[in-house]
Amino acid sequence: MKQSIAYYGDPILRQKCKPVESINEEIRQLVRDLEETMLANDGVGLAAPQIKRSLAIFITNVADDEDEDEELPSIVRVYINPKVLKYSEEERTEEEGCVSIPNIYAPVRRPRRIKVEATDLNGELFTKELSGLSARAFLHENDHINGVLFIDRVRGRARERLEPWLRKIQRRTKD
Ligand code: ZN
Repeated sequence: MKQSIAYYGDPILRQKCKPVESINEEIRQLVRDLEETMLANDGVGLAAPQIKRSLAIFITNVADDEDEDEELPSIVRVYINPKVLKYSEEERTEEEGCVSIPNIYAPVRRPRRIKVEATDLNGELFTKELSGLSARAFLHENDHINGVLFIDRVRGRARERLEPWLRKIQRRTKD
């Protein structure tokens, strides 16, 4: 079922999430809820704390391959207890946004390629190499699991420009 979103200013977005102990029906339902809520909000990913569940789970909805010339279909992927094993030295800066911080976009610098590890819905541990948008989406959602938001990675003047808008969202969240 589509769930309500935790917006900027909600303390759950700043908590470090608990690891998932076992894949049971509750976890499978949480993943279905994440998927419905992500699609309803046009997100390229969504993490459990964004629907007010402090558990180390997120989903992404991006194409698998980096080749930017080719339009590949996006695939919903589930990452449970995710971990980054390796970061490339090469970095890229691209605009990001977040379902929990509506209407705010800012450039974020991140590694271009990563190697990750996670558990899937069958309880199997897997590793995967990600690059381009799939790496960026993973890192953005993985930050949520650690209580970090993309605006924390925006520095200097770009960050200052966001402040009035952030305060506005925060006020609305508290009301
Ligand atoms: Zn986000």
